[in-house]
Amino acid sequence: MKRTVHDNHRIEVHLNLRHPRGLRPGDEGYNEHAQRVCGEVERAIRRHVDNLAPASLGDSRPAPGAVRIIFDTREECSHCGLLWETVTEADLDEHSVLGEPLCCRKAVVEFRNEKGIPLGEFGEG
Ligand SMILES: [Zn+2]
Repeated sequence: MKRTVHDNHRIEVHLNLRHPRGLRPGDEGYNEHAQRVCGEVERAIRRHVDNLAPASLGDSRPAPGAVRIIFDTREECSHCGLLWETVTEADLDEHSVLGEPLCCRKAVVEFRNEKGIPLGEFGEG
C-alpha cells in the first residue's frame, strides 16, 4: 500500500530580492545582491535558533537549528533567456553541430564563431 509520509520539515523564507537599481537574475551583480540580502536574514534567523540541539550522529540532514541559503540554478541563454539546451547525438542532422545551442540564432552564431565552425545557413541575414 502506498502511503504519504511528510518528512524533512523546514521553513523557507521567500524574500523580496528586487535590486534597487533594477538588476535582474543573470545580470552582473544581481547574485551578490541576493546573497547579501539572504545572508542578512540568515544571520537574523540564526540569532533565534542558535540554542537548538544538534543532529544525532549519522543523520545526514542538516542539524536542527541549521539555517541554509538555498537557491535554484538554471542554465539559460544570455541572448534570449530560454532554457539552455544543446544539440545531442540524437538530434544531429546535416544542418546541426553537436553541442550547439537550440534556442536562437545569436547563440548558434556565437557558438560556431567560438569553435571556428562555418556559419552555414546561420550566416545569412
Ligand atoms: Zn538563445
